[in-house]
Amino acid sequence: MAGIIIDGRAVAARVRSEVAREVAALRERGIQPGLGVILVGDDPASQSYVRMKERDCAEVGIRSFDTRTAAYMTQEALEAIIDGFNGDPAVHGILLQLPLPAHLDAEAAIARIAPEKDVDGFHPVNIGRLVRGLPSAHACTPEGVMELLRAYDIDPEGKRAVVVGRSVLVGKPMALLLIAANATVTVCHSRTRDLPGVCREADILVAAIGRPEMISASYVKPGAVVIDVGINRVGDRLVGDVAFAEVAPIASAITPVPGGVGPMTRAILLKNTLAAAESAGR
Ligand code: NDP
Repeated sequence: MAGIIIDGRAVAARVRSEVAREVAALRERGIQPGLGVILVGDDPASQSYVRMKERDCAEVGIRSFDTRTAAYMTQEALEAIIDGFNGDPAVHGILLQLPLPAHLDAEAAIARIAPEKDVDGFHPVNIGRLVRGLPSAHACTPEGVMELLRAYDIDPEGKRAVVVGRSVLVGKPMALLLIAANATVTVCHSRTRDLPGVCREADILVAAIGRPEMISASYVKPGAVVIDVGINRVGDRLVGDVAFAEVAPIASAITPVPGGVGPMTRAILLKNTLAAAESAGR
């Protein structure tokens, strides 16, 4: 029997409407949450992501401050923009759209963002706080996955979770959030031996690989929850890292691509910006 198709669009819409309600309450206290957006260069995918994020902000009443620059800017100029947002009380969160052009140092730029305005959860201080089990902004995509699990009453406690992918943006924070939720977590990567065998141990399997439809049915224990973070363009189609058609019939719940994790990433950015504004207003 086919399992549940997790509806990321519906959960994201609910998160957005909760954020909109709380933004309205904050504005009554004279605080309008603000997001400083920095886009370097003219990469079409990044431009489109930024457009969507700014549209989301407008929809929930968050003000966005848009800074777009040419790709040839210097590191000093980029850090001056970040410093400007760091010092601006109307800006509660800073979104530095990645990837940056190769001549710029993304690590240094991220570290320049004031940790309390790091709504992407990438700053070393926030990652360190997550490792230490302290409150912090969580990276939007893995936190979006946790929100989906909560929305569908899937409690990771005591479960075996396997995360395929160890990137600092997705895989590693995903593993840390699942540990914090009391799962027993295994992290896999390109050097993992017997990947299908390890994946088959998972009650919750998270694929964050970037390889179209790599996770076939032979990687999945019947009844597992399968979360597909991957977004891959194959011709004119978007596909995940999971072979949805063959895995959906054996999973107890599965996220589709598109319409699963993707919408949650954007919704959590709004939630993190609201939280940053709330703590600045305290
Ligand atoms: P990265 O390329 O940074 O990391 C990919 C990870 O997958 C690495 O840890 C890599 O291992 C591992 N990997 C690659 N090939 C294999 C393999 N054959 N077997 C096992 N592990 C493998 O990607 P990201 O983490 O940034 O993104 C992953 C996917 O998620 C992409 O498709 C991306 O587009 C998507 N994404 C989706 C988002 C959303 O909103 N839904 C947001 C962010 C990303 P190793 O470390 O050994 O190289």
